[in-house]
Amino acid sequence: MPLEITCGSCGASLYNGYELKTAKEVLRTNQSKCRNCGKALSDHDYAIGVLPFKMGNE
Ligand SMILES: [Zn+2]
Repeated sequence: MPLEITCGSCGASLYNGYELKTAKEVLRTNQSKCRNCGKALSDHDYAIGVLPFKMGNE
C-alpha cells in the first residue's frame, strides 16, 4: 500500500510512495515547510493516509 503524507493546510502531497517514512523524516526533507503553499508545518499540520492500491494507473 502506498503511503501518502499531505499538507494539513492545502492538502498538497508531501510524500507519496511505498517506503514507510515517519512524518518527521518527511518534514525534515522539506525543511518542515509545505513545498506547495510554503506553510511551516508543525507536528500537527500534516495528515497521513494509506492510498488505495491502483494497478497500472500511474
Ligand atoms: Zn501546503
